[in-house]
Amino acid sequence: MAAPWEDVLRDIPAIQEAAVVAVDAALLQGVLMRTEGQPNASDVVNFAPFTLLPSAVPSALFEQAYAVQQDFNMLVDAISQNKEFLEHTLASTIKVDDFTARLFRIYTQVLEEGLAQSVFLGINRSDYMFDSGVDGTPALKQIEINTIAASFGGLTSRTAVVHGQVLKVLGKPQEASHLLPNNPSRGLALGIAKAWELYGSPSAVVMFLVEEVQRNIFDQRCVENELWNRNIRVIRKRFRDVFEKGSLDEARRLYMDGQEVAVVYYREGYVPSSYDEQNWEARLLLERSRAVKCPDIATQLAGTKKVQQELSRPGTLERLLPGHTEAVTRIRATFAGLYSLDMGAEGDKVAAMAIADPDRFVLKPQREGGGNNLYGEELRQVLEKVRDSPERTSYILMDKIKPRPAMNYLLRAHRPLQVSECISELGIFGVYVRRGSELVLNEAVGHLLRTKAVEHADGGVAAGVAVLDTPYLV
Ligand code: ADP
Ligand code: MG
Repeated sequence: MAAPWEDVLRDIPAIQEAAVVAVDAALLQGVLMRTEGQPNASDVVNFAPFTLLPSAVPSALFEQAYAVQQDFNMLVDAISQNKEFLEHTLASTIKVDDFTARLFRIYTQVLEEGLAQSVFLGINRSDYMFDSGVDGTPALKQIEINTIAASFGGLTSRTAVVHGQVLKVLGKPQEASHLLPNNPSRGLALGIAKAWELYGSPSAVVMFLVEEVQRNIFDQRCVENELWNRNIRVIRKRFRDVFEKGSLDEARRLYMDGQEVAVVYYREGYVPSSYDEQNWEARLLLERSRAVKCPDIATQLAGTKKVQQELSRPGTLERLLPGHTEAVTRIRATFAGLYSLDMGAEGDKVAAMAIADPDRFVLKPQREGGGNNLYGEELRQVLEKVRDSPERTSYILMDKIKPRPAMNYLLRAHRPLQVSECISELGIFGVYVRRGSELVLNEAVGHLLRTKAVEHADGGVAAGVAVLDTPYLV
C-alpha cells in the first residue's frame, strides 16, 4: 500500500519548502476555516488542516466503496420509511438514551399528524477504513454512515489541486497527474437543487440550518455557491431564528420572515448540546412542515449506531431490501463485527467478551461528531460499571478496525512540521431524492479522505484530530 514517495519523506529541506507552497496553495484554493478565537467572523481565517502528501489507497477498495454507495442510499431511504423496524430497533435505546428518545418522540408525533412532506432528500457519507486482515490483505470496512450534516464535501473538492502542486514541487509530476478530480459539493448541490425543483415553488428558498459557532462555514459556502450559481436563493438560519421567526400556514408550508422555504439542509442538530427547549420546538416545527428536510427525522434516526448494529444481524438486510440480493451482498461485505448490548443472555456474553479483550473492540454510544467512543482500558472500566444495568444498552460494541499505518506530515496552523505515523478514513458522499415512493435520483457524488496520527483513537477534522487528505490510488 506504500505511496511512491517514501524517498522524499526524509528529505527535510525539500519537505519544508513543499510545506510552505502547500499552505499557500490551500489558502488560494479556499481550503479554509475560521479560527478558534474568532469562529463567527471572517476577518481572520486560516487554512483547514491537511496532509502534506496524498495517502495511498488501494484502488480496488476505493472502487468497492463507490460501487456500494447507491445501495447504501437505497438502504437508508428504506429504513427511513420502515416505522416497524425503527420502533423495534430503537426500543431498548430510547429507554436509556434521552437524546435519541427525544428525536424519536418528534418522529412519532409527526407520523401521527400525517406527513406534509412529499419530496425527500438524503445526503449521506459512508465512512470506511482499510482493515489489514490476518494475512495483511486490506479489506474495506465501514466505520459508520452519517445521515445528517455530513461535512467537508466542500473543502475536499479543493484538496486534489493542492496535493497535485505539492507533488510537482517534490519532483513527482507523473504522480500529480494521477490524482483524481473530486467535487462532492457540486453533487450535493445538484441533489438540493433537484429537491427544490420538485417542491415546485420557484420563489421559495433553501435554508441552511447552521450552528451558533460557525468555524466550518467555508465548507458550507462551497455548496451554497453552487446553488446561487443555479439562481437558487439560500438563507442561513439557526434553530433560534426558526423559533423566533418561523411559521407554518394552513397547508403547513414553512415560512421564515415571510419567505417560503422549500428545502431545509441541516448542518446542525445532531448533538444534544444543539438543543434547549426552544430549539426542540423549532425542530418540531420544521419536521411538521411541508418543506423538504435533509434529512427528515426518520432518516436521522436511520443513521444511529444502534440501527447500524441491527443491520448486521443475519436476515435484516434481506428484510429491508427484498429482491435486492446483489445490493445486500455488496453492503454486507463492508460490515465489521457489530454486537448488541441489549439486556439478556446475548448482551451478557458480548459484555463479557469485550471486558476480557478490550483492545479488540470499540464501545460506541449513540452520539455523532467524534470523540465519544471508548477504547482499551477505558472501554473495560465503563463496561464493567454498566454491565448489569440497562445503561449498557445505550452503547453498541464494534470490532476495532486496524489499518496499516503510513508516514505523512500533518499541516496545522501554528504547529511545527513533523512526520507522523498515520491512518486514513475514506468517506463516499451519497445523494438521493424521492418523490412519494419513486426514487428520482440516486448517486455517489464524490469522496473525502481524512487522515490522523495513529495515537488518536477517535475524532474527526472538526474535533481537531484528523486532517483533509487526497487519495492516491495504488
Ligand atoms: P462519530 O459519529 O462520532 O463520527 P464514528 O463511528 O465515526 O463516530 O467514530 C469516530 C472515529 O473513531 C472514527 O472516525 C474512527 O477514527 C474511530 N473509529 C470508529 N469506529 C472504529 C472502529 N470500529 N475501529 C477503529 N476505529 C474506529
Ligand atoms: Mg464518524
